[in-house]
Amino acid sequence: MSTASAYMTIRGIDIDVIYKDIKNLHIGVYPPMGRVRVAAPTQLDDDNVRLAVIQRLPWIKRQRAQMQAAERQSEREMITGESHYVWGNRLRLKVIERPGRAHLEVDGDKLLLYAPEGVSPERRRELLDHWYRSQLRQVIPDLIAKWEPILDVSVPRWSIRRMKTKWGSCNRETGHIWFNAELAKKHPESLEYIVVHEMTHHLERNHGERFTKLMDGYLPNWRSRRDQLNGAPLAHEFWTDGAGE
Ligand SMILES: [Zn+2]
Repeated sequence: MSTASAYMTIRGIDIDVIYKDIKNLHIGVYPPMGRVRVAAPTQLDDDNVRLAVIQRLPWIKRQRAQMQAAERQSEREMITGESHYVWGNRLRLKVIERPGRAHLEVDGDKLLLYAPEGVSPERRRELLDHWYRSQLRQVIPDLIAKWEPILDVSVPRWSIRRMKTKWGSCNRETGHIWFNAELAKKHPESLEYIVVHEMTHHLERNHGERFTKLMDGYLPNWRSRRDQLNGAPLAHEFWTDGAGE
């Protein structure tokens, strides 16, 4: 069976398309950030897919809004026993109340949070967020340094920020790359995929065939790294008859 894949951006939403030997077009919106993936019959082309997606855009936007609201609601209390992900590993939080400067550290399968008594959940979340960012700051420079000579591009600036719907983004004019702070929860291979993806945008703006070819050359297993990043395909799904669209 032959499969081809494409990337497209429709009204600011990144969409992965895979062409398969199937009868109907399938649109899925996946948590946590509302990633959109389309499985399309091989007899359709990018324009057919684009049209089908545009027709389902109100539905896609509703699913994404729901997922993002659910993410906000699942805000953690930051108490002992909660699980938190660090570099793809699920760790159990242990809060240790003691005077002095607050800090976090990993001890085996535990994430230890040392903080003075009475520190609010909000402040604890902030401590964890800062810690995640510091984890990323420790590894991103080496990854960029590794890939700069391979792609022959330089990254003059990068930073970490909270993003609702993207793992990374870049400004092609300035070369600035932004990384989602949530990447510290994911496997390091996924972070590397984002580094290479965003650096590849310095060579090719769009997610077209050329982009896919470049990625295949640099990081042949980028698809599995991306899938790992986007989690299990639980879904808000939509099936539609491709021919009728
Ligand atoms: Zn991209």
